[in-house]
Amino acid sequence: MNKDNQIVQLKARAKINLTLDVLSRRENGYHDVEMLMQQINLYDNVTVGKNSSGDINLSCSDGFLPVDEKNIAYQAASLMKEMYQLAEGFDIHIDKQIPVAAGLAGGSTDAAAVIKAINQLSGLNLSIEKLQEIGFKLGADVPFCFLEGCALARGLGEILKPVRGFEHAWMVLVKPNFGVSTKEVYGELDLGTIETHPETTKMLEALNEQNKRVILSGLCNVLETVTLNLYPKVSEIKEKLSSYGAEGVLMSGSGPTVFGFFPSYERAKKAHKKLKKQYPQSYVVSTYNQ
Ligand code: ATP
Repeated sequence: MNKDNQIVQLKARAKINLTLDVLSRRENGYHDVEMLMQQINLYDNVTVGKNSSGDINLSCSDGFLPVDEKNIAYQAASLMKEMYQLAEGFDIHIDKQIPVAAGLAGGSTDAAAVIKAINQLSGLNLSIEKLQEIGFKLGADVPFCFLEGCALARGLGEILKPVRGFEHAWMVLVKPNFGVSTKEVYGELDLGTIETHPETTKMLEALNEQNKRVILSGLCNVLETVTLNLYPKVSEIKEKLSSYGAEGVLMSGSGPTVFGFFPSYERAKKAHKKLKKQYPQSYVVSTYNQ
């Protein structure tokens, strides 16, 4: 294939949080976190090709998302062009499957995919650490999206340690018909009132041994204290998932998406059939590990 006409197509995977703890608030308003992030088999298809015009052209299957510099995938291409003085332009298409403003790192994963694709297309040969460093300029969740599987994230989310993930686990994801602003949720968080924090070390041991019972009982996200208060619908969905047989239920990120693990694909499918009627943005997905 002619190198100039080369096209790179990537699966930009979403994540869920098996745990999310907020340790402290920095003076600049950012928060130090400790979280277990797990990729799932729900992804946007991101296609990137080179053009000689030098322009960035973005298109997206979701007509509600911006296709200019407001889109984080556009910003990723722009940053790469600027940092590496790239004369070539890029044609980017995002086939959006991940719900937006959902707590699933949908935008972050698109940005990571574009950076990865440009690294390949422009022959930059940058290391994964360098790609993560570039991604971090765009968002705290972007560095994780260069990894495959599960990782323990610290700092603002950029200090990453790959760990054994939750393997072959089936879940139903439910996103209510509204989005949540991550900034708003962190802004409302009162660290002094959090009673239950995740037991991250215990969770890491459980993952290492694939001790399903301990993993399911260890699911914990301190941001629920904010989002569940602001949006009672999220609690309602959690209760529904449990009543349909989910063995462990949690909100992902700052929400509002909730996931519930089921003992089998069949059981998940059965619950999904009922939930889908009320929540069209419901999905049966499995965890993704390398
Ligand atoms: P995180 O879990 O990292 O907080 P999220 O899943 O909550 O992310 P996103 O889906 O990334 O949230 O969307 C957050 C906002 O970013 C939306 O309001 C959306 O308009 C904007 N946005 C910009 N680019 C994108 C993109 N490529 N995909 C999704 N949202 C985007």
